[in-house]
Amino acid sequence: MLQITDLTVRYGRQTAVDAVDLRIADGEVLALLGPSGCGKSTLLRAVAGLEPADGAISWDGADLSGVPVHRRGFGLVFQDGQLFPHRNVADNVAFGLRMAGAARPERDRRVDELLDLVGLSGFGARRVTELSGGEQQRVALARALAPRPRLLLLDEPLSALDRSLREHLAIDLSRLLRDSKTTALVVTHDHDEAFTLADRVAVMRSGRIVQTGNPDQVWRHP
Ligand code: ADP
Ligand code: ADP
Repeated sequence: MLQITDLTVRYGRQTAVDAVDLRIADGEVLALLGPSGCGKSTLLRAVAGLEPADGAISWDGADLSGVPVHRRGFGLVFQDGQLFPHRNVADNVAFGLRMAGAARPERDRRVDELLDLVGLSGFGARRVTELSGGEQQRVALARALAPRPRLLLLDEPLSALDRSLREHLAIDLSRLLRDSKTTALVVTHDHDEAFTLADRVAVMRSGRIVQTGNPDQVWRHP
């Protein structure tokens, strides 16, 4: 379980994240929803370990302050995928497994499994630059999931895609997160996306969480 307590991030005199308390239960998909500039990405980056913050972030009671990004056991997916452009699809998916020291046969097996999961079986040898935006995001997702992260952090994972593809992939992603029993924090400014993906929605405004509830509750009392 992820526990965020009294988390604050400042940029100079601006407070981007303001005394946030938030908890994500095992297996839960939480959407952090709010307008551009309200502090969603900053909060996610602090959880990832990419942004210094005041307050506490812990996993199953163990404090994560001072634990570097790659030792937190979290997977990351950003808006534009950020794949390694000079590597093929399989190498990109294998990246985290390689870092974790997985042996070749296990890596290959896991890569096949993940490509299958995201609907890209047979794409392993393709160059990522040849893929569509939607395919690239699915590779980014496979790469993040490959080392079995205890928490997946997704920052506007579908925003760079066009509307019809976004709706389609939101449904796929929702199913995938549930099938793989992944615990996830998804940052989005898109209501429909939050409600499609999440078990619970936290609404953020000006650095603060102003409301949390299941999608129905948040929808009826916006
Ligand atoms: P969101 O993800 O909700 O769009 P951000 O977390 O990106 O919001 O930004 C929150 C606020 O912090 C914004 O006012 C933004 O301009 C500011 N901010 C974000 N990153 C930085 C940074 N690296 N340096 C200074 N200000 C930043
Ligand atoms: P291995 O010997 O484990 O098969 P490689 O010879 O393929 O590894 O990798 C050579 C170097 O490239 C290593 O330092 C590794 O960290 C780096 N590397 C491997 N895969 C990737 C990737 N997908 N993106 C960026 N760098 C990578």
